[in-house]
Amino acid sequence: MIEFMTKRKNALVVVKMVFFYFFPKKDYFCKNNQAIQLMIKRILYQTFLLLIIFFSLTVIGKFLYSETLLQQNERMLAEIQTVNPTSFARFDKFIQDIETHTKWRVYVTSSFRTAEEQAELRQDDPRNARSGKSKHNLGRAIDLNLYPAQQVWKGWLRKSSPKKSWEQSGVIEIAHKHGLKWGGHFKTYYDPVHFEIP
Ligand SMILES: [Zn+2]
Repeated sequence: MIEFMTKRKNALVVVKMVFFYFFPKKDYFCKNNQAIQLMIKRILYQTFLLLIIFFSLTVIGKFLYSETLLQQNERMLAEIQTVNPTSFARFDKFIQDIETHTKWRVYVTSSFRTAEEQAELRQDDPRNARSGKSKHNLGRAIDLNLYPAQQVWKGWLRKSSPKKSWEQSGVIEIAHKHGLKWGGHFKTYYDPVHFEIP
């Protein structure tokens, strides 16, 4: 009897050996498959998390960014409002008109300047108007950059941007409609960011 059982055990061992000889990969694959599945799950989960973080940061960043720009505009226009309420109202309408009728947003870079500030600018670049001679000193001029409302890859329109881009923005036409003079038309000094009440 014992002899028979030993024989059976031996036979089982042989069967197992044969089986694992022919199917070792199957077992290996099963174990690895689980590991791979776990890894894929982890990667998907991490990607999902990263996407959520990226998306939230973009939304928050965009919000903070536009808030900063808007605050600067308010600060700049408030300076004009104090010295020249009439021109404040005109520039305010001009900016609103740009933002409703073009694909651009306005970023006011300069508004009212004191005589000292103008003198400093003149020192930096002699093409700038003499102190007291600039419309900025009277609160009758603003300098502005344009940035795209939606298509962020388009880039900003700044002082260094070509005349053609400024003209294509539609902003110059709006300026003329509001009776404003554009610095891009100045004969001596190309100053496309500048808009003034003549
Ligand atoms: Zn200017």
